[in-house]
Amino acid sequence: MASENSIYDITIIGGGPAGIFAGFYAGLRNARAQIIESLSELGGQVSALYPEKTILDVGGYPEIKARKLINQLEGQLRTVDTAVKLNQTVTDIQKNAAGYQITTNQETTLTKGIIIATGVGAFNPRKLAVDNSADFEGHNLFYSVKNLDQFKDQTVLVAGGGDSAIDEALLLEKVAKKVYLLHRRDKFRAMEHSVDQLKNSSIETVTPYLIKGLSSIAGGRVAVSAKKMKSDDMIELQVDKIVVNYGFIAQDDALNAWNVHPDVNRGTIRVQSSGLTDLENVFAIGDVSKYEGKEPLIATAFGEAPIAVNALMQSLYPDRRGPLHSTAMHKK
Ligand SMILES: Cc1cc2nc3c(=O)[nH]c(=O)nc-3n(C[C@H](O)[C@H](O)[C@H](O)COP(=O)(O)OP(=O)(O)OC[C@H]3O[C@@H](n4cnc5c(N)ncnc54)[C@H](O)[C@@H]3O)c2cc1C
Repeated sequence: MASENSIYDITIIGGGPAGIFAGFYAGLRNARAQIIESLSELGGQVSALYPEKTILDVGGYPEIKARKLINQLEGQLRTVDTAVKLNQTVTDIQKNAAGYQITTNQETTLTKGIIIATGVGAFNPRKLAVDNSADFEGHNLFYSVKNLDQFKDQTVLVAGGGDSAIDEALLLEKVAKKVYLLHRRDKFRAMEHSVDQLKNSSIETVTPYLIKGLSSIAGGRVAVSAKKMKSDDMIELQVDKIVVNYGFIAQDDALNAWNVHPDVNRGTIRVQSSGLTDLENVFAIGDVSKYEGKEPLIATAFGEAPIAVNALMQSLYPDRRGPLHSTAMHKK
């Protein structure tokens, strides 16, 4: 029989912005908490996909480099006692007398409540649908910009039409010799601010075109052939590097494999305004949670984390005094 002290109050699954901030806030509430993260570092999509990007829409920071935001969050997390377990993937959850039994690839722990913050799950970018694309991956073809220096003084083609594609093109423009932005529609699906920046940039937009073929040319470069939509016209662009940003394929299989799991629909979990799922004391926050009007943003995740932690603590300890302001909660 597990002793009361060996049972976590809150297990947070996923160490992206939502999970990190929930872990910090759980610490403020004196909860016995753990964060379990599959990857070898915290930060979720922010660390794994766009560490070099400048983020403009987090309150309190007119602009902040993605990597720096995660460093700041980690610093904040270190001020509390929440345990952080990296390189551990939650592979199963079972109901148990204490609440829930959480199994990872390394250990089994008991917890009274759970906050699921698994984001988009495994990061599987939607790949370029060209037969030989794998031959170019890693040297000419990329699915995110992790190291800006790789693109210095290069001719780069960014493919995609959403916010991320435009952000990447604008980021690359700062170091690259030339940037093309190729999209299959004439209009970009991005924030007005980004589209305005694009209009005022040196980036050459190539629309409405779709990449149809890649071939190696001299000097380790690539010839990209692209077809005009609803037309037989073809063009060829010779570039050093290609960054494809066609979004991600949602992976809800992992959550569905757990013995006990909330209802998962196309990778997201429908929640109440507190983040509560259809399971007792199981909440979902961040990109994985869904409700009417939800915007999958870092700022949204930061708001959802304290709401879920407070609701869970209220459910576990109804007699405890509810949330105060942080200055009154912090012991150290
Ligand atoms: C290119 C790009 C640019 C973006 N730019 C912005 C921006 O400028 N501003 C903004 O607000 N938002 C931006 N976003 C969105 C933002 O990154 C997400 O809203 C945010 O990362 C969501 O945080 P999260 O913690 O919910 O999920 P995630 O960041 O996806 O983190 C989830 C974590 O859970 C882990 N995990 C998953 N399954 C398990 C498991 N079974 N066991 C253990 N761990 C698990 C994953 O490894 C991951 O680390 C951008 C997204 C992309 C892709």
